[in-house]
Amino acid sequence: MPIDPTLAFRLREVVGAQVLVDPELVASYTADWTGRFRGHTAAVVFPASTEEAAGVVQVCRESGVAIVPQGGNTGLVGGGVPLHGEVVLNMGRLGGSEPVDRAGGQVTAGAGVTLAGIQEVAAESGWSYGVDFSSRASATTGGSVATNAGGIRVLRYGDTRAQLLGVEAVLGTGAVISHLAGLVKDNTGYDLSGLICGSEGTLAVVTRVRLRLVPPAPERAAALIALRNLDAALGTAAVLRRSLPQLEACEIIFTPGIDLVCSVFGLRRPFLRPSPVNLLIEVADRVDPTDILIEAIGSAEHVIDTIVATDSPRRAELWRYREELTAAINTLGPPHKLDVTLPTTSLAGFIDAVPDVVSTIEPTASTWLFGHVGDGNIHVNVTGLRTDDDRVDGAVFELVARLGGSISAEHGIGSAKRRWLHLSRSAAEQTAFRALKRALDPDGILNPHVLIPDA
Ligand SMILES: Cc1cc2nc3c(=O)[nH]c(=O)nc-3n(C[C@H](O)[C@H](O)[C@H](O)COP(=O)(O)OP(=O)(O)OC[C@H]3O[C@@H](n4cnc5c(N)ncnc54)[C@H](O)[C@@H]3O)c2cc1C
Repeated sequence: MPIDPTLAFRLREVVGAQVLVDPELVASYTADWTGRFRGHTAAVVFPASTEEAAGVVQVCRESGVAIVPQGGNTGLVGGGVPLHGEVVLNMGRLGGSEPVDRAGGQVTAGAGVTLAGIQEVAAESGWSYGVDFSSRASATTGGSVATNAGGIRVLRYGDTRAQLLGVEAVLGTGAVISHLAGLVKDNTGYDLSGLICGSEGTLAVVTRVRLRLVPPAPERAAALIALRNLDAALGTAAVLRRSLPQLEACEIIFTPGIDLVCSVFGLRRPFLRPSPVNLLIEVADRVDPTDILIEAIGSAEHVIDTIVATDSPRRAELWRYREELTAAINTLGPPHKLDVTLPTTSLAGFIDAVPDVVSTIEPTASTWLFGHVGDGNIHVNVTGLRTDDDRVDGAVFELVARLGGSISAEHGIGSAKRRWLHLSRSAAEQTAFRALKRALDPDGILNPHVLIPDA
């Protein structure tokens, strides 16, 4: 799809040579991480400042051209790729962080700084960043704010919105809003940063973020716990949450998932006697938490076996069983990724029921379950389906809704779940969404095919 020469000229007036139009070069920006969502674009534009991002939005608005903001392109719901030929506004050049406010425990960073980058900057200044997940090397702060990303530490520190003290962003009008003073108490009207957080690039392009840091907890211990059955795993997760204030992560992994990781990445199986379900937990404190971890596991029932790891390399080995699972599943073909959350009381019923829901629709499909069980968040991954066959997606989301859950725990709605938004949001809420969209993006140029269904 060749770019309109006038548009190319005007974009280059704003960002110089940072406009990619060669079809071979733009291709890697048009497909998502799973390979399920593949789009096309005439141009990928790389602004290096808020002013340049505002200039690009202004040009696109005047030209009637839609934009897809893009960070590290690790999103899993088809929200960051140009499925309808939009111009891609890649934020990778908005890097760099300001010096950490060591007294206040805050930092301002460009939207293109990766999650790992922020974690490093925080650690160098004696602080820590509360959000972590396995795409940390590529996912950006802008993308994690746009998706209100969760991850493995939500049960201790909350999601990205809980870390966010302010943003600088370009609205769909091209206007820039900047609220980066980092005042912890600031009751001066609408919380626009909180609104933009989780808006998936539909209201504004985030260019800089002000983040709260947390005190470091350098002493760590992790454990992989093999359990007799699902009820035992959920019961143990509840006991550990109650008895361990130091609990930072509580993940569930089923044995078929561990077997898959082992066969794809050549890892050794963790236990001699396989168990149906496993919890991977991590505790962190200022003093060595190993003894309290062991004591808490000792008080849990139905534990078949446990591996405790205290030093960093052995903890990393345990984490591979969980963190490599997403990549291992990808080797089976583009998965349908259904990231959902359930009330505690419905979680076991959902996990039991979902494989049958899938196999009733597509008997040859495989269901992989894992997730941040400490938050009631389960990732249902289904392989063996055509990328455009969303019957299973719909059936799983309907089950979630019947059980009082949400169709997106942390990945967002994107384009993948847009047509099921009504299962989690009422008609009145969707009307309010559309009114907000019209107010901040009157011409509908920012990610117009994401999140909000057509009226
Ligand atoms: C292996 C793996 C593990 C993951 N684990 C987790 C997890 O545990 N928890 C979790 O929450 N997510 C997880 N994710 C999903 C993903 O990493 C997060 O959603 C992340 O926040 C996306 O950041 P990104 O920079 O890659 O954004 P992208 O994928 O580029 O974009 C995601 C969305 O945000 C919008 N966007 C991006 N940047 C901006 C910006 N600057 N301004 C406005 N809108 C923008 C895009 O338009 C799109 O709608 C995982 C993904 C992978 C591949």
